[in-house]
Amino acid sequence: MKVPVALAILISQAALADVVVLKGATLIDGTGRAPQQNAVLIVEGGRISGVGAAGKVAVPEGARVVDLKGRTIIPGLINAHGHVGLVAGGQNRPDAYTRENVQAQLVQYERYGVTSVLTLGLNRDLVYEIREEQRRGAAPGASLFTAGRGIGAPGGAPPVPVAPDQVYRPKTPEEAAAEVDEAAAHKPDYFKIWVDDVFGKFPKMEPAVFKATIDAAHRHGIKVASHVFYLADAKAVIGSGVDALAHSVRDQPVDDELVTMMKKRGTFYVATLNVDASFFAFADDPSMLDDPFLAAALPAESVQQFRSPEYRAKVAADPNVPKARAALANGTRNLKMLHAKGVHIAFGTDSGANPARIQGWAEHRELELMVAAGLRPMDALVAATRGSAAMLGVSDRGTLEKGKRADFLVLAGNPLDDIRNTRKLVSVWHDGREIQPRVASASVQ
Ligand SMILES: [Zn+2]
Repeated sequence: MKVPVALAILISQAALADVVVLKGATLIDGTGRAPQQNAVLIVEGGRISGVGAAGKVAVPEGARVVDLKGRTIIPGLINAHGHVGLVAGGQNRPDAYTRENVQAQLVQYERYGVTSVLTLGLNRDLVYEIREEQRRGAAPGASLFTAGRGIGAPGGAPPVPVAPDQVYRPKTPEEAAAEVDEAAAHKPDYFKIWVDDVFGKFPKMEPAVFKATIDAAHRHGIKVASHVFYLADAKAVIGSGVDALAHSVRDQPVDDELVTMMKKRGTFYVATLNVDASFFAFADDPSMLDDPFLAAALPAESVQQFRSPEYRAKVAADPNVPKARAALANGTRNLKMLHAKGVHIAFGTDSGANPARIQGWAEHRELELMVAAGLRPMDALVAATRGSAAMLGVSDRGTLEKGKRADFLVLAGNPLDDIRNTRKLVSVWHDGREIQPRVASASVQ
């Protein structure tokens, strides 16, 4: 059949209306290269079909053009250590892992500019259904990667109140390997182990158990991230082949032996400075809660709770808080040192693990803490984008280059001038679709 010319033009214009040209912004592409001034970014079918300097990228006629002069574009943030379905109504609850709650939390991440998240353990198997629905385009929110349940210690870490089907706690290496085999059938994106005594309170996972877990995961071609606190445990899990440290080393300064091991094996490091700060930040400075960018991420009962004298008294009396302060100081120093030595840095927050680790807000806070630790804003952004994508082993996101997913943030300020400008969200683009941020940019000075 011959299509009349006028109709053919109409059809091609309709197709082109789905092509969006964003022009005039300063573009930070996530590779670490210097920003592109007056950039052109072309979005087509959820992908980036062109990117570069104005005048150097062919702009299709008939496309929708968005003028972003004065704005800055960065890749969507990738949280390589988050959690969903652990907190409901401002509390950790073993019944919080519901479809409704998990989806609401994924939407919250997305509306704060976290376009992908690795939920690193404590997931019910429901997570695989939600991941599948998302991949079919049938569920909203940040793109979900998951480590499923994860492998903890009997009577030990993780000390989180969850239902029995949210974590394995093997007693022997054989049990651990069998549980990894069972979980691997769901094709998790990562495995998670916990190696910690939680300030000396619990028995730690036996080395034979984590070795068996890591070996079994690797037999299935799946990488393993480990919760750690102590330098000695970090070395032990890396020596057993772990692929990523999911927290900072926090008991003491890291040493050359650890650096050498991590560089030789390409181990990723996720500092999660937000974890240690979350023990006391709101008690130290309740005025943080005046910021709508934070308050909008919390249920009203949590805002009230964190402002209350009872909360401040509880923090003041908690014997773990001075330990968390020392841990943050160590973690801060160690991040700077490991980054300077060229260890692979990825990005995570442990947001969603408890009510003080706040999904969406925590990721912007982590960037700020990384810069306070001595990383340049560009280094922190690269960790949070390309770095996390590399840890996940995905090549379709993390940088803004031709052919990659159209996952990016439009900001009203340049984060290279002040890392807090990542909070000045104008819009979030996820899979080529524009999403309104949870809080408009005007909320941040
Ligand atoms: Zn965690």
